[in-house]
Amino acid sequence: MTVICRFAPSPTGRLHVGNVRTALMNWLFVRERGGKFILRIDDTDLERSTNEYEDGIKEDLGWLGLNWDATFNQSHKFPAYEAAAKKLREDGRLYPCYETGEELDRQRKLQRVQGKPPVYNRAALDLTEEQIKAYEAEGRKPHWRFKLSGKTVHWTDMVRGEQSVDTSSLSDPVLIRGDGSFLYTLPSVVDDIDEGITHVIRGEDHVTNSGAQIEVFEALSDHLPIFAHTPLLVWKDGSPLSKRLGSLSMGELKEQGFEPLAICSLLAKIGTSDAIEVRASMEALKDEFSFDKIGRSPARFSDEELLLLNGKLLHETPYAAVKEHLESLNVGGGEAFWNLIRMNVSKVSDAAGWSTVLYSPMPGRIEDEDRAFCIAAANCLPDKVTDETWGEWTAKLKAEQGRKGKSLFMPLRRALTGRDRGPEMGQLLVLLGADKAKARLKGETA
Ligand code: GLU
Repeated sequence: MTVICRFAPSPTGRLHVGNVRTALMNWLFVRERGGKFILRIDDTDLERSTNEYEDGIKEDLGWLGLNWDATFNQSHKFPAYEAAAKKLREDGRLYPCYETGEELDRQRKLQRVQGKPPVYNRAALDLTEEQIKAYEAEGRKPHWRFKLSGKTVHWTDMVRGEQSVDTSSLSDPVLIRGDGSFLYTLPSVVDDIDEGITHVIRGEDHVTNSGAQIEVFEALSDHLPIFAHTPLLVWKDGSPLSKRLGSLSMGELKEQGFEPLAICSLLAKIGTSDAIEVRASMEALKDEFSFDKIGRSPARFSDEELLLLNGKLLHETPYAAVKEHLESLNVGGGEAFWNLIRMNVSKVSDAAGWSTVLYSPMPGRIEDEDRAFCIAAANCLPDKVTDETWGEWTAKLKAEQGRKGKSLFMPLRRALTGRDRGPEMGQLLVLLGADKAKARLKGETA
């Protein structure tokens, strides 16, 4: 069986970590099985959907490396949805309802007071011809509900195991609004059938929905995909992500300097039994992916963890992969510079600070008690520094100045870089050069 999956965003906003995780799960699963990945743009809501958001979604997915094999827009497929609605109507599974939003609200309030569940009472099924005519004469347009069977729907979920939804506890879902527009439920099923989607992978907020949608699948065809509902993504403290989604959009994370592979690594690993580690390629993430590893509890998203993974990824990233980015930041220094500082950055933009340390005039930072020591160090530094200089120079200083460990090394690091921590000093000294090093050791600006 060829696996066919789809990621189905609505172009009503930019992608954020929550929906990217769903896209990623689909992509990893498909690519691991050598299947087909479809990007479906759920733009039946013509008022809220925009081309800009659609372009943004495609740009974000491309940036993340989540390539697709085919894409289409639901807004181009209205005739197919009309045809499906016609069949459902003919089979008595789609019925017109004339209640206004207010009337439905009142009904639900009453049910609540009576201690009943707020399930639609199907009053529309009992309307007489005259009543319908009267509503139409008033100018009311019907919305259309799918008649659920009232039975319990069962399926085996790839993440949640045996699932059941008692459809008698659900309201018959509205498939078509009063203005004739389609809600998500029917178009999604029609497309999943047309495209031969084998696995529907989405968040667990769709579980109940799946109960109803399975009945729509059954009413329209023999095709039924396998479902996988992944646990929700929550903020690191367990609170919902909803309020932070703006700052967790791909546009924002990209702007903040996060690497796509760090984002994908984190989103692929959180909530699974794997350790949270960064992977150097999407291939590696794909090879390790399995639904068996996904737990049932919510996956916690941590910005700190993302930063950590971003750093770890950069520590292993070769110069060629960051060259353009460094150039766009006006960070010079080339490969030797990157290899020296990459262990000390969490984001590529951190390189700018190290570039300043190495290539911009800076006064040596020297504590009073280290002044004499630093001058002695400047005086015995050879005029030409090589890979061996640091070892030889500090050995000599140790012997002559009677300092060792931190009191030997820290004043040198501070004088040369202005910082307490940083890259390996031997190579740093080579890149800095003897003249700058001597001047900074004397407290001069160089
Ligand atoms: N457009 C729907 C959503 O974003 C798709 C859900 C699905 O995968 O079926 O929730």
